[in-house]
Amino acid sequence: MKFGGTSVEDASAMSKVASIVHTALKRSVEEGSPAPMVIISACAGITNKLFELSKLAAAGKESEALKIFGIIRDHHLKIIENLVTDPTRKSLVTEKIIKLLSELDQLVRAVIYLGELTPRLEDAFASFGELLSSTVLGEALNQNGIFTEWLDARHLLKTDSNFGKAVPLWPLVEKQIQEKVYPLLKRGTVVLSQGYIGSTEQGKTTTLGRGGSDYSAAIFGAALGVDAIQIWTDVDGVLTTDPRVVAGARRLKVMTFSEAAELAYFGAKVLHPSTIRPAIQKNIPVYVLNSKRPESEGTRISNEVDSHEGTVKSIACKKGQTMINLTTTSMLGEYGFLYKVSEIFAEYETPIDMISTSEVSISVTIGITTNLDLIIERLKKIADVSIDRGVAIVCVVGDSIRKSPGIASRVFSSLPSINVKMISQGASEINIGFVVDEKDADTAVRLLHDEFFSAIRENAIFA
Ligand code: ASP
Ligand code: MG
Repeated sequence: MKFGGTSVEDASAMSKVASIVHTALKRSVEEGSPAPMVIISACAGITNKLFELSKLAAAGKESEALKIFGIIRDHHLKIIENLVTDPTRKSLVTEKIIKLLSELDQLVRAVIYLGELTPRLEDAFASFGELLSSTVLGEALNQNGIFTEWLDARHLLKTDSNFGKAVPLWPLVEKQIQEKVYPLLKRGTVVLSQGYIGSTEQGKTTTLGRGGSDYSAAIFGAALGVDAIQIWTDVDGVLTTDPRVVAGARRLKVMTFSEAAELAYFGAKVLHPSTIRPAIQKNIPVYVLNSKRPESEGTRISNEVDSHEGTVKSIACKKGQTMINLTTTSMLGEYGFLYKVSEIFAEYETPIDMISTSEVSISVTIGITTNLDLIIERLKKIADVSIDRGVAIVCVVGDSIRKSPGIASRVFSSLPSINVKMISQGASEINIGFVVDEKDADTAVRLLHDEFFSAIRENAIFA
């Protein structure tokens, strides 16, 4: 069970987590199965504050640094204040938090003194978010009568020394987790640990990269060989589209990892499959659930491909894109043009998201425009270039699109009034994507949602 930042943001959120864990533990006792393992993120916003703190310290801005430090301290002390009722327990957990804070304080002073910040030091700062939140949550669980063992993830999740984006040392991680975590779970003890953080074999603190606690959950789950990984967040699951655009967006009951990958890539707020790779490899289903509404069943993401012909699952939309059109007659009957073009984008470390070509032209879209001017300068040497800023990619995603005739025809005939600037059916054939002006994007999404979802009654796939 992994709980994200908003699921542990304050005392009331933490109480909800405790009751969710309580229910899961009770079920495991009834079934005679091991207790659940709980992995948590830092309280929402705290990791950002820690990075801010590290930068202020490195810049020698002591008083500003202390202000941020104060915010971080007060945030956790306030949760304890509102959460823990027993005075003895309150002072015990406060003591633990004060101890962590004094370590953080020492780190701040060291960095102020050194006047520089290395990735290793940044990881040391960032790790406090999860250390603090898990210390407080541990108390919330205990208070609810849940027998909990708090384990430091840095003793379990061993990584290489690629600070800021560390890679787990796999056989070792698996061994550590199986030896140190599994016996406790088997005994019926809930094990609570931190997402996002690990350490090198020498014991230096590392992090897995921003948003890394989903990855941690997948690592722990895969190492333990669990039946399911639950990602608890603040939405009801994966929806048919962005509910801010379409009020009637529906919850998907099931979807596949490959559908989730397409959606994540094209702008949907779905957990990215690359972050849960260990779960996919071991074929462990991942559930996206809402800790604020635990009664909602969430979305089950797995490898199982369903056989529902013609089912479009979701519509994603990515705004703020730039389309670059290249035309040159020298492409006619020539070879290597695409190579030259992609070489330029590669040189400037700019990923191409979508591409479409004809005999004399190529259109590509990019999302990162930091080096756009330099790229255009180079492209102009090999082709006529025109730029369309402020376009959006809209994608219709579903595994069975690949074998269902008529989907593309429905997509485009539902958009009679919209100017489609580029079309691409990804090589995976599970997504039909196209580019429109940003101002048309929401309308396109609404029209498509109407076309594909409004008439569907609740069934095995849609809630
Ligand atoms: N706390 C970390 C972050 O904000 C990891 C996570 O939340 O997944 O990036
Ligand atoms: Mg997070």
